[in-house]
Amino acid sequence: MKYKEALVIDETTLGTRDSKGMWVPNRRCDFGPLFARPTRLVSIVRWFVRDYLISMHLLYFAVAWAVWTWATPSRETMAQLAPGWMLVVLGRNLLVVIAWFGAWHLRLYRRQAQGTATKYNAKFPQNSQRFTFGSQLKDNVLWSLASGVPIATAFEVIGLWLFSSGRIAWLEWTQHRVAIVAIALLIPIWRELHFYAIHRLIHTAPLYPRVHALHHRNTNPGPWSGLAMHPLEHVAYFSAMAIHWVVASHPVHMIFNQMHLIMAPVPGHAGFEVIDLGRGTFDTHGYAHYLHHKYFEVNYSDGVVPLDRWFGSFHDGSPDALKNLRSKRSISVAGNTQ
Ligand SMILES: [Zn+2]
Ligand SMILES: [Zn+2]
Repeated sequence: MKYKEALVIDETTLGTRDSKGMWVPNRRCDFGPLFARPTRLVSIVRWFVRDYLISMHLLYFAVAWAVWTWATPSRETMAQLAPGWMLVVLGRNLLVVIAWFGAWHLRLYRRQAQGTATKYNAKFPQNSQRFTFGSQLKDNVLWSLASGVPIATAFEVIGLWLFSSGRIAWLEWTQHRVAIVAIALLIPIWRELHFYAIHRLIHTAPLYPRVHALHHRNTNPGPWSGLAMHPLEHVAYFSAMAIHWVVASHPVHMIFNQMHLIMAPVPGHAGFEVIDLGRGTFDTHGYAHYLHHKYFEVNYSDGVVPLDRWFGSFHDGSPDALKNLRSKRSISVAGNTQ
């Protein structure tokens, strides 16, 4: 095959494939050194610069900055609620989603540019009647564009109006530089805490079948699965942006929060461990969430705060973690049948 000659990665050096074709990376899921004990300051500084600062967070911030600078109406316009500027915000959010999700899908799934190299599930998604329109792709695009983007935009429009009309605190760069930088650095961590809380909630008995099961139809997820959620899950998910209604910040913080919410699910659902870019590679860190889609009750969040480890739902991808999960499940099945 032509793509194999041009690949930088060799999946056999990075992991192993089992008899069912499932690829397991050698590297274990982890949370980095921030909350590791004992505290290692040098590791934390190195991790902060290499993995937290110069990372996808920076890309999401750059998109937020560009959107705020070049594709957001003026403060005067947004001080009044009016359909014209709201549609502009909706349109640019649709463009961001179509470009970002579309680029990943095109390269990895339509062109299959790296075949199945480091793809966790060796099969590409097939059409199935469990999806709307009988197609995973059409289903995922529908929920993302018809529900996800409008609901995200509704949260953004409310925030922009509250900022512009003076109803909530707008921190000016000239007076609050340290606070503005600190808040921007905390936003990815806020997102993890918020996502963990709502994700545990929608895995409870009354909400799972009515709300979250729609997202979990994607047992072999692709980039567009990231925002394929029930509208009520979208409301809960994007409510992370409502923190700016009560905590003083700058509108660019809120847009960064939103771009993070919109864009981060793509690498997490891409289905590949390493993206081959021809001259280099890019790690998705998607295995923890892939395991969530495979085993459901593990890895409710992933990132830097080890919430799953603290609350006993962490699966690091190792054979031991799988053995533990199986024994837990057999205990609970035995308990239910008694
Ligand atoms: Zn997911
Ligand atoms: Zn879930």
